[in-house]
Amino acid sequence: MPDFPPITEVREPSAAVLRDRDEAERPEREQRQVRPRTEGWQQKTDATGRPLLQFASPKRGKPPVHLADLSAEERAAKMKELGLPAFRAKQLTAHYFSHYTSDPAEMTDLPAAGREELVAGMLPPLLTEARRLTTDNGDTIKFLWRLHDGALVESVLMRYPERVTLCISSQAGCGMNCPFCATGQAGLTRNLSTGEIIDQIVRANRALANGELKNSPKERVTNIVFMGMGEPLANYKRVIDAVRIMTTPQPAGLGMSARHITVSTVGLVPAIHKLAEEKIPVTFALSLHAPDDQLRDELIPVNSRWKVDEALDAARAYFEATGRRVSIEYALIKDMNDHGWRADLLAEKLNERGRGWVHVNPIPLNPTPGSVWTASDPDVADEFVRRLIVAGVPTTLRDTRGKEIDGACGQLAAADAVSAS
Ligand code: SF4
Repeated sequence: MPDFPPITEVREPSAAVLRDRDEAERPEREQRQVRPRTEGWQQKTDATGRPLLQFASPKRGKPPVHLADLSAEERAAKMKELGLPAFRAKQLTAHYFSHYTSDPAEMTDLPAAGREELVAGMLPPLLTEARRLTTDNGDTIKFLWRLHDGALVESVLMRYPERVTLCISSQAGCGMNCPFCATGQAGLTRNLSTGEIIDQIVRANRALANGELKNSPKERVTNIVFMGMGEPLANYKRVIDAVRIMTTPQPAGLGMSARHITVSTVGLVPAIHKLAEEKIPVTFALSLHAPDDQLRDELIPVNSRWKVDEALDAARAYFEATGRRVSIEYALIKDMNDHGWRADLLAEKLNERGRGWVHVNPIPLNPTPGSVWTASDPDVADEFVRRLIVAGVPTTLRDTRGKEIDGACGQLAAADAVSAS
């Protein structure tokens, strides 16, 4: 989902962050209220005049069935259909999940006769690289992928000192219609298949194996965040199937740690409860961005369906079911949601649900002069953090990554779609 700043890194808090401020202008600042609004486009609305929410994926041509879309039993059954022994499926699986290849020329353990056809049938191409952007210092690569039907999605590969994080997409477009979001503007094109989700990781692992991310501390992606295009919990089954493949040990899966996989949502409450029941201890992140319904109804349209308190109750239930501390994502937007009283209200709502179950990540937006979607002043951001910390809520101010190659996930694809039309 969450298309505010894709991924984040810890920003050193200013030395003054824990000091109370008592500026003369604070009362005036506390009352300023910029309301969310779209800039340069109009939200589609439903019959009641509310922003349209699309939960169902439009029916479009399905992507080819890929090995990653099949269970181990289905893969073996497919071999049988083709008159091949079941272990051929295991060989193909190892090539794809452990060696990150779909190239028959590299699969010399398969008989040469019929190899190309077998690979084409089981590992059909799903993603074509349409464009790639790399930051000047080489620590971030943004991939724009074209799918079989021309839809565009993106993933962002980021190098940190001790980990390599990939931000992936779960849908082409998005039906949640958030007014700040480039991805949401065109609505939902379609859900990605499990294979299309997994292939983003396999392709990134391949790029790492080829040395394309400079000075990478790891040979493969260690962390996944579902913060590219789409609302992951609106494509629930395929996202969960993909998470299961990610956490299955190699060579049958990608062998990743569940706690290094972050599933985020704008607050699809029934799906959060369902996720808790899966008992896969992924990190769960709720993109809250406002603690009061009045603002959040406008900022995150799905709030008209499930309110702040319901989303927080579901987040707390996730913690209780899994023991995993929940992340609250909070993009700080100047004079819109960055008021001290909102920090206090957020702390109150979190604390009334218990202690030690949640961590807040405020993320200042990129400065965008003249836009209502612009960064909070640094002292306001510090004050917001200070109030949460003083109230006993663990809080870390984050910074965005990849500013020079578009601040938010979704923007690159939107820019390309516009320039292609
Ligand atoms: S419109 Fe979709 S992708 Fe964009 S912020 Fe909202 S949920 Fe995330």
